[in-house]
Amino acid sequence: MKVIGLIGGMSWESTAEYYRIINKTVKERLGGLHSAKILLYSVDFSEIATLQTEGRWPEATKFMCDAAQRIERGGADCVLICTNTMHKMAPEVQSTVTIPLLHIADTTAIEIKKRGIKRIGLLGTKYTMVEDFYKGRLVDDYDLDVFIPPEDGRTIVNRVIYEELCLGKVVEESKNQFQQIIHDLNTRGVEGVILGCTEISLLINQEDSPLPLFDTTAIHAQAAVDFALESG
Ligand code: GLU
Repeated sequence: MKVIGLIGGMSWESTAEYYRIINKTVKERLGGLHSAKILLYSVDFSEIATLQTEGRWPEATKFMCDAAQRIERGGADCVLICTNTMHKMAPEVQSTVTIPLLHIADTTAIEIKKRGIKRIGLLGTKYTMVEDFYKGRLVDDYDLDVFIPPEDGRTIVNRVIYEELCLGKVVEESKNQFQQIIHDLNTRGVEGVILGCTEISLLINQEDSPLPLFDTTAIHAQAAVDFALESG
């Protein structure tokens, strides 16, 4: 079994889910007392969130590259960035280590393609929804048509992520708002929705949506297990 490296803590609420899903999946596949070999470097999210809101992306990139190097030095065989947003600097992170970076957008797009879906909605932080680092990859590399909510919907989703979910707060009214946003995407003809922030599955899951949901946390975590258990 290979060692899975995780850059976590963004937020720790979702990294705990990665840890749970990875171990549960290894147990399901190997049985008995098996569990995953994981090397976790967990950051202080307050430091990262400050760099984000102040637009200090070069410093944030340095931070993430340093985290990946620590994980490689620790002996991991791959590295995962346990947040969609911080894939903004995924190319730089990959270029500073020799172990593979398992990109969350790639693992998610592969699942979407398996379902034969082309028109996909995307919910995430304002960075993930509006900027091109994530959407662009889905469009250019996987030929998907990506739809995001209008500005008022984006403001709600971004606020709920940083002011509630990253703080461990699950609020019923926010769940209703997310369901309305998914409903609105549905009327625009999307065939599925990416939960493109690793905390969103703490708020809503498949039973809450008429459209297929692609939970990036679970998909990314399971891809890590595929990597760890593949032979060779
Ligand atoms: N976990 C979130 C994501 O998947 C947001 C936290 C962050 O800004 O990294 O995008």
